[in-house]
Amino acid sequence: MPELPQMQALAERLDAEFAGATLTGVEPLGFSALKTVVPGPETLVGTTLERVGRYAKYLILDFGPSPRSGTEPAGRLLIHLSQAGRLDVEEPPKRTRAKGSVVRLRFSNGAALLVREYGTERKAAWWVLAPGDDGPLATLGPEPDSDAFADLILHGDDRRRVHTLLRDQRTVAGVGRGYADDALWRARLSPYASLASLDDDERARLLDAVRSVLADGLALERERTGGLSKPKLGEHFEVHARYGTKCPRCGETLRRVSYESHEVTYCPACQTGGKVLADRRLSRLVK
Ligand SMILES: [Zn+2]
Repeated sequence: MPELPQMQALAERLDAEFAGATLTGVEPLGFSALKTVVPGPETLVGTTLERVGRYAKYLILDFGPSPRSGTEPAGRLLIHLSQAGRLDVEEPPKRTRAKGSVVRLRFSNGAALLVREYGTERKAAWWVLAPGDDGPLATLGPEPDSDAFADLILHGDDRRRVHTLLRDQRTVAGVGRGYADDALWRARLSPYASLASLDDDERARLLDAVRSVLADGLALERERTGGLSKPKLGEHFEVHARYGTKCPRCGETLRRVSYESHEVTYCPACQTGGKVLADRRLSRLVK
């Protein structure tokens, strides 16, 4: 799933290529992916895309005033790629309706954005918001670079596991499974550690690890070009999804714990004092 670094770098690329262009057409292509009814997407057609930004894992397209409404901005369009949503930059725009197509946005610069869905659940979605309406952004917590997040990590008494807390978008926005795995590995903390159980040194390591994995991820993501179009993104995580390979720090074999919807990768030597955490999938295979 694209997380904060992928989405930030994507927003920067799209801003560089599309800001200043006029939206010339919106083609909703997928069923039920548009999460708003009013205002309709047609209200943005004919207006200028002023900037492409991001909050958490949402892309935010800000449109300027429409010729019809005077000086008031026409509104915003939000895109969330969720698990397996991807975004193609089409140059020139295609007329075909590729499998999994969600929406195509055409612009006056001779290019288009096509959102596609490669997954079957928790699908990509988009919203058209009137000025001042935050839509789904209203429920999101602070971002990892904020003082509020630092305060939570350094002083909070949240009893949940850190891995769970980091992925809760209402608690901190923009982190998912991938960077949660890498941050815990960098901080040398067990994926089962709860925030409340950490001492001052561990908390400081955790805060630093979350921020540094995201900063390093962003630096690597900035080397991409174009959209975010491949079903397999070619991630560059340090340990996430690399179970069975060697820990890049100590050489121990990385392990995983499997859950219904995801799995956590960790190094027993670096993170759990040598202890291998029980994994249902592993015990099934071993039998
Ligand atoms: Zn290790």
